[in-house]
Amino acid sequence: MQFKEYFISMMRYTRPHLSEAEEEYIEKFIRPVCDYTDESGNLICATVSNPRIMFSSHTDTVHNKSGKQKLITNNGKVLTSDSTCLGADDGVGNYLMLSMIDSKVPGLYVFHRGEERGGIGSMFIAEQTPDLLKGIEIAIALDRKGKDDVVQFQMGSRCCSEKFAKQLASLMGTTGGDMNGSFTDTANYVDLVTECSNVSVAYWDQHSKQERCDLELIGKIEDRLIHANWSSLEAFDYEPEYDSVPMYGKYYSSSGYSSGFTHDTYWDLYDLCQREPRKVARFLDEAGITEDDIMYSEVNEMNGNNHIVPYVGTPDSGTLLNDTEMGAYFSSENRHENKNIVVDQYGRYVFK
Ligand SMILES: [Zn+2]
Repeated sequence: MQFKEYFISMMRYTRPHLSEAEEEYIEKFIRPVCDYTDESGNLICATVSNPRIMFSSHTDTVHNKSGKQKLITNNGKVLTSDSTCLGADDGVGNYLMLSMIDSKVPGLYVFHRGEERGGIGSMFIAEQTPDLLKGIEIAIALDRKGKDDVVQFQMGSRCCSEKFAKQLASLMGTTGGDMNGSFTDTANYVDLVTECSNVSVAYWDQHSKQERCDLELIGKIEDRLIHANWSSLEAFDYEPEYDSVPMYGKYYSSSGYSSGFTHDTYWDLYDLCQREPRKVARFLDEAGITEDDIMYSEVNEMNGNNHIVPYVGTPDSGTLLNDTEMGAYFSSENRHENKNIVVDQYGRYVFK
């Protein structure tokens, strides 16, 4: 494939879930190579008759507007945009899969819908059409920041074996990097597929104005994905395991990213949820707060989104709430009065 030109033409689209631009992007780049589209809109293709490896990515981005964006390259190497984010998460994964399909790399390929809205498409497959994954032993998402990571834990619980992660890292020519991931689509398949992972595809600071990707590195990853000896990759049995090592904090609180965070208590809690999921769950449970309270709270409905994303950068709209205002908002008497408080696209609570 003419890597840079083709990839850049894909990246011009800003594609919120179910937006016009996402539809146009799918029509132009994805649908022509796929075998079919399922009821949830996932686009599916298999390059062999009995695939044992599934590759996945997602077509939606966290852009707030549907349309096109201006792209900026730095020495033809690093790509950024003039928009609220770049959408390399997960345009890179889409591109890599198109290239693998083009090269007939054996596999099942799923372009998921609504990953940024909590994994709508993958949840549909896991719950409604699990037979799609019959015979699939390995599910690899191409939807991870950085350059070396092979994720072994998603949201604190083990999703693949250490042995598998080592083999996959060696196929990708990486160290295996950080084994702790947050959520991506393959997390929805852990009960159906033996080994589920997510690997770095050379973007950084996703979901923010600073999002960027490395064009040269993407070219190298593409080359490895196409030439890897996938039949040598094995699936192993492993014990379910929960990660209690506090490794997440550094990404969001002690790195340079934290300089842009305006609401420290929010981000301290965000870190805590990732670092100590069981403590947080027990605390919420004892306080009588259910999953529905969180997922269907008014604040999430107003945002049309139950996926709170990291915020990096300077506020560009609204006024951030301070702790007292947040507390007042979430006290049950006040919840229904404060209609002017919304969650913006960065997951911040703001007065509008
Ligand atoms: Zn993603």
